[in-house]
Amino acid sequence: MSVLPIVTYDDEVLRKEAEPVNKNSEEIQTLIDDMFDTMYNSDGVGLAAPQIGELRRIFVADADAMSEEGEGPQMGPIAMINPEITFQGGDEVAMDEGCLSIPGVNASVKRPEKIVVSYLDRDFNEQELEIDGWWARVIQHETDHLDGILFLDHLSMFKRKLLGSKLNEIAEGRADIAYPVVPKKAEQK
Ligand SMILES: [Zn+2]
Repeated sequence: MSVLPIVTYDDEVLRKEAEPVNKNSEEIQTLIDDMFDTMYNSDGVGLAAPQIGELRRIFVADADAMSEEGEGPQMGPIAMINPEITFQGGDEVAMDEGCLSIPGVNASVKRPEKIVVSYLDRDFNEQELEIDGWWARVIQHETDHLDGILFLDHLSMFKRKLLGSKLNEIAEGRADIAYPVVPKKAEQK
C-alpha cells in the first residue's frame, strides 16, 4: 500500500473522460488500496482515479466524518467502479465543497440532495444505492471527476473569477500543499 502523488489543477488529465473497468485484477485491487491510502493521507473524503493520473472509472470515498456532523448516513469506506448516477432528485442544496486536486479552494456548490447510483463494488458485484446528505454530494463530485468535470465548473463565471489568483497559484506550482502532488512541468505555463 502506498500514498500516490495527486494531480492538481490545471493538469489536462483532470479534464479527460475515464475508461470503464471491465475486469478485476490484482492491479485494480492494489490501485484501490493505494487510492484509499492517498485519500486518508491527505484528509480527503473522496478521490477519483484521474486525480492520481489513472483514467479509469473508479473512485474511493469515506464521508462518514462529515456525515456525522450533518446527521447523515454512515457507510464506511467505499470503492465504486463504473458508477452511474441513475436518478437525481429532491431539492437543489448548496454546500461548501473542496477538492484534493484544488487544495485550499472552497466554494458553495448547488447539487440535488438525493441520488441513486449503480456501480460495481471492489469485488465486482453489482450494487445500487439510494442516498442523500454528504454522501450523495461526495458521490456526485467524484463521478464528475470520471467525466473530466471539476466542482469549479458548477460555479458562476463571477465566483470562478474570484478564485482566479488561488487557482493560478496551484496551476503554477506555487501553492503550499500539505501532501504529495505531481510536480508541475516547467513547460506548462
Ligand atoms: Zn475532487
